[in-house]
Amino acid sequence: MEKVILKLDGLGCASCAAKIENRSKNIKGVSNLTLDFARSRLTFEHDETSSEALIKEIESIVLALEPDVKVSLQNNIAKHHAHEHAHAHDHHDHHDHGHSHGEGDHDVKALVRLSVSVLLFMVGLLTEHFPVIQLTSLFAAYILSGHKVLLRSYRNIRRGDVFDENFLMSIASFGAIAIGEVPEAVAVMIFYEIGEYFQDLAVNRSKKAISSLLNIRPDQATVLRNGDWLTVTPEEVLMGDLIRIKPGERIPLDGTIISGSTNMDTSALTGESMPRYGEEGDDVLSGSVVLNGIITVKVASVYAESTVARILSLVENATAHKAPTENFITKFARYYTPIVVFFAAGLILIPSLLSGFETFDQWLYRGLIFLVISCPCALVVSVPLGFFSGIGNASRNGILVKGSNYLEALSTIDTVIFDKTGTLTEGKFEVYHTHLAPDQFTDAYLKHAASLAEFHSNHPMAKSIVDYTGLTVNPEEIISMKELSGHGVIAETRIGTIVAGNHKHLEKQGIKAPDIQSPYTHIHIAVNGRYIGTFDIRDRIKKDAAEAIKALRGAGYEVAMLTGDRRRTADAVAEELGIAIVHSELLPEDKYSVVQKKIAEGRKVAFVGDGINDAPVLAGATVGISMGAIGSDAAIEASDVVLMTDEPSKIGKAIRISKKTKTIVTQNIVFALGTKLLIMALGTVGLSSMWMAIFADVGVALIAVLNSTRVLHYKP
Ligand code: ADP
Ligand code: MG
Repeated sequence: MEKVILKLDGLGCASCAAKIENRSKNIKGVSNLTLDFARSRLTFEHDETSSEALIKEIESIVLALEPDVKVSLQNNIAKHHAHEHAHAHDHHDHHDHGHSHGEGDHDVKALVRLSVSVLLFMVGLLTEHFPVIQLTSLFAAYILSGHKVLLRSYRNIRRGDVFDENFLMSIASFGAIAIGEVPEAVAVMIFYEIGEYFQDLAVNRSKKAISSLLNIRPDQATVLRNGDWLTVTPEEVLMGDLIRIKPGERIPLDGTIISGSTNMDTSALTGESMPRYGEEGDDVLSGSVVLNGIITVKVASVYAESTVARILSLVENATAHKAPTENFITKFARYYTPIVVFFAAGLILIPSLLSGFETFDQWLYRGLIFLVISCPCALVVSVPLGFFSGIGNASRNGILVKGSNYLEALSTIDTVIFDKTGTLTEGKFEVYHTHLAPDQFTDAYLKHAASLAEFHSNHPMAKSIVDYTGLTVNPEEIISMKELSGHGVIAETRIGTIVAGNHKHLEKQGIKAPDIQSPYTHIHIAVNGRYIGTFDIRDRIKKDAAEAIKALRGAGYEVAMLTGDRRRTADAVAEELGIAIVHSELLPEDKYSVVQKKIAEGRKVAFVGDGINDAPVLAGATVGISMGAIGSDAAIEASDVVLMTDEPSKIGKAIRISKKTKTIVTQNIVFALGTKLLIMALGTVGLSSMWMAIFADVGVALIAVLNSTRVLHYKP
């Protein structure tokens, strides 16, 4: 399977976009084709060795529907981009500038054309007593504003597309002329064009606003090669290379500071406006901006695996997963136009056939009103735009939503289930106390054994223990290590078989550990079947956890906590956080069942985890949310929503953004359909005019688009 991304520059008409998508889907050899109208991108997959023929075919479909669109290949976007702008310091500015320039030209021409049409139209309206002047100016206004629509309808009707919106508009205007309503005919065209113009403007504005939110791609890296600092693209930097970043520059790759210190602006990644300080030994994230010091960083991974590349690819692919509401609108749009046209025909023909043709003009006028309202444009444009704006807004707040479908699902959540360790607690354990077995073992021996056993584990508890012992482990002392989720580890080492973990874990190995009286977590250590001691460790509850949980409960969500930890520890944490429902001593598969049981009860569950051994639970929830994108790759893979920082308060924010998006999308649907239905109903009984129909078509679309852009500016 190879994936192809095509850029369709200049795609302004949403219903054409829907048609392009529907027709291209039917091409043989093409699968998973989606057209993302908000970003004018068409993506598909194919098996064949060459995609050229398929691209040609898609291009011809596009050009048949929208001759002005430029189709270009957009694969390897990263490479392309960086190369193109290798020397431009701020390539985004550069890019935007070029873009708006070309568009500006286009805009001006359209604006002049529209103004002249309006002027001629007014002359037409004011010269009632001079029929020749009136007709000439109205005719000129009609051609000037309507020639595009007329041309397009001619082209489409030749291919047999009777439900083409341009064709229906043309018919409506011809009809109006036929019954002597010439000003109305001209108005249909002029306002249609004015509406399109402003709608394009609004859509382009929000497209730009969204892409500037995602302008976190670094242009270049300054890398040390053979003693010289060279400027290269981020893709050319290798793991282990040294790079240097100066104030004002964006960190191009993830790594560790080896010299220098600085404050960094991470807001583009995390939504966090407080700068973060970093010095020698600290990790830095690609995408953050260095504010006030020069730092040298040792690169930890190649560009393709960097934080910034991962965020970009997540967000870029997000709109390909369409929300159910979007799919519904696409389907609805396919039936809406034929049904309305069918009604129009009925309205024109049936009364006349039944009661003679004296009132034909009157029924024709009513039918034409239907034709003017027959485009579902308002919905086809504003609904995807709303979801896209929601995703953009979320990412600005450090919340990556992997698809419009997940954004919509998030708005339906009624239950939030948290994992404890690393999610509600910091996952940074402090050893509070060590207990030694009453034999001859020393504290040093206990530490040595524990650090050997836990050395290869990624579990936060394991890491804390290794840190606490302060020992430098010689990996050669470890022969093998096996980790049992929710239990602990078993390691074969030079000093023997070491078992480290909870009570249950040791019991399974036939080792008895003492029951220590303390409310914290106990990691017991045994060597060669003999218990040698225990680490009594405690974790700190995250700063904003209690607040976040209070807010969720206050907003009516059921909140629960799951953990593999001991009951006493779990209950203590839950009490401090005000969580009433706690399930403790769970294995990962038990966590999965708890979530599935809730879902089977009809609840919509968001599971929030850090992804250390809870990937299946994340994947099985209605919406899986993982915290701290720097945490675990598995969690990012398995989850639907990724929080860049690990603040629990982001959950509430994510839900609020999704709800706002859903509300605005619903408003648009109700408003657009409501207005159209109302005008049609009034039209049927002769109470609405062509003018009202024009409003229901153009005005409504414009208002819906503007309403959608409110999602972008919403502050959660
Ligand atoms: P949580 O559900 O709180 O995230 P886990 O399921 O990750 O906890 O772990 C549950 C329990 O299993 C821990 O409280 C600990 O007792 C034990 N455990 C898991 N991994 C390890 C390990 N690497 N070393 C020691 N104990 C472990
Ligand atoms: Mg965990």
